Amino acid sequence: MASTGPSEGATGGPLDKEDIHMQWMQCAMDMAEEALAAQEVPVGCVFVRDGRIIARARNRTNQLRNATRHAELEAIDEILANRELTPTVTEYPLSETTLYVTVEPCIMCASALRQMGIKEVFYGCGNDRFGGCGSVLGVNSALPHPKHPGYRATGGYMREDAIMILRRFYITENTNAPVPKSKANRVLKTDIPSRLSPKPQAA
Ligand SMILES: [Zn+2]
Repeated sequence: MASTGPSEGATGGPLDKEDIHMQWMQCAMDMAEEALAAQEVPVGCVFVRDGRIIARARNRTNQLRNATRHAELEAIDEILANRELTPTVTEYPLSETTLYVTVEPCIMCASALRQMGIKEVFYGCGNDRFGGCGSVLGVNSALPHPKHPGYRATGGYMREDAIMILRRFYITENTNAPVPKSKANRVLKTDIPSRLSPKPQAA
C-alpha cells in the first residue's frame, strides 16, 4: 500500500490510485478528529463521486442520543435530501459513489450501503465487534441477498491512525456513557498488531 502524502506521488508525478485513496481517507480522518473534539466515538467518512467529495460526516450518536446516527447514515441522509446530488428517486442512488470511512462499517451501515447500491467502500481499521464487511458478518457481499448486489470493501487505509484515534477516545472519561467508568488508571497503548493490509472482501 502506498504511504506517500496526499498532494503528490512518491516521484512528484501524478497521483496514482493508491495515493488518491489515501487522500480521501485523510479527509475521512479529519472528520474523525472532529468527532473526537466533540466527544463522539471518532469515526469519520466522506462520500466521493466523480472525483469530488459530495458529503462528509462523523458520528453524532452522543449529541443526538441516538445509537443509529453513525457517520455513514448522517452522510447518506445529506446526499438523499440534496436535490442536486439526488435529483430523482432511483433504486440505487449511490451506484456512482464511493465511501471512505475510518472504521469498517457496522452491520447496520453495511446493510444500508448495500440497499443504496454503493459502488465501493474503503475503510481504515476492522471492527471486530460490529463489523459488517467481514469482521462479524459479510453483509457487503458474502451474505447472499435475493435482490441487492454486493459491493467490494477494502480495509487497511490509514489503519493505524484509525485505531489510535479510537484509543485516544476510549482512554478518556466518556461522560455520556450511562454509567461512567473511571479510566484514570488506563494508559494509551501504542502497539498495533500487524495485519495483512489492505484486506479485501471481494464480492
Ligand atoms: Zn454503522
